Amino acid sequence: MKDYLVKAVSEDKMFRAYAVNAKEMVSVAQKDHDTWSASSAALGRTLIATTMLATSIDKSGAAITVKISGGGPAGQIVADADFQGNVKGFISKPHIHLPLNAKGHIDVGGAVGHNGVLEVTRASKGEDPYTSDVPLATGEIGDDFTYYLAQSEQIPSAVGVSVFVNDDNSIGAAGGYMVQVLPGASDKAINSLESKLKEMPELHELLLKNKSPEDILNLIFGDGKVKFLETMPVLFYCNCSKDKFAKDLKGLPIKELQSVQKEQHGMEVVCNFCQKKYQYSELELQSIIDQAKLDHKNSNKA
Ligand code: ZN
Repeated sequence: MKDYLVKAVSEDKMFRAYAVNAKEMVSVAQKDHDTWSASSAALGRTLIATTMLATSIDKSGAAITVKISGGGPAGQIVADADFQGNVKGFISKPHIHLPLNAKGHIDVGGAVGHNGVLEVTRASKGEDPYTSDVPLATGEIGDDFTYYLAQSEQIPSAVGVSVFVNDDNSIGAAGGYMVQVLPGASDKAINSLESKLKEMPELHELLLKNKSPEDILNLIFGDGKVKFLETMPVLFYCNCSKDKFAKDLKGLPIKELQSVQKEQHGMEVVCNFCQKKYQYSELELQSIIDQAKLDHKNSNKA
């Protein structure tokens, strides 16, 4: 099954819902960053939740950056997604593997920690980006996004995200759902949804059985009680390039660039998001320095 996300609304129009299959996406992240089980699950769950959050914004050009720092051994997680389902991300400590937790699951909460915050920056074309943060609930990621939506966006919701890691560190399954309560939803409907979510088989079991995003939403709302509105591909995608990093380098202090040029006769830059390496020769560095000097002059004039 290829990765894709579905957007839906319940037949009674009381809930909006999203579900995604993201095995390929998380597999690419796992390979790019050589993550071990707990880091794979923590990063993967964050990528999945960030993708659903970004695609839930009905604005062209919208994008979301999520930063999670919980004080646990996995360090910080950063994920960046746009409204078209492109996502990228990294985790500062990729080699975390922990004993399973009491439920027999990967101990994501233990890896991430819960003494910290989930920070979300929303950016839309033509608008200033804005950032809000909430304390982490459990560090299990799904709970933390649920808490963020309730606290920061005033949207009662349920976010479920899951990554199954095989013994050889490859990704066996990955995916998630996000259900948001719409204004006017009745208490009865909300209560019945809550019990449905509790009764449901565990998400990773459904994903391992190759249940599709549509299957998962049909299971949550009941067969035929959900209307699918849109399907879109989702992808781990990094838009970095040698030119983009050259622009970033141009912003560094000129003295710093000159000393690197003199001592190392060139430079290598590694992209945090996809681990791709870019080399700049001594000559290329010289042209970056020349450009930086020119920019400096022009900004001084202005
Ligand atoms: Zn990159």
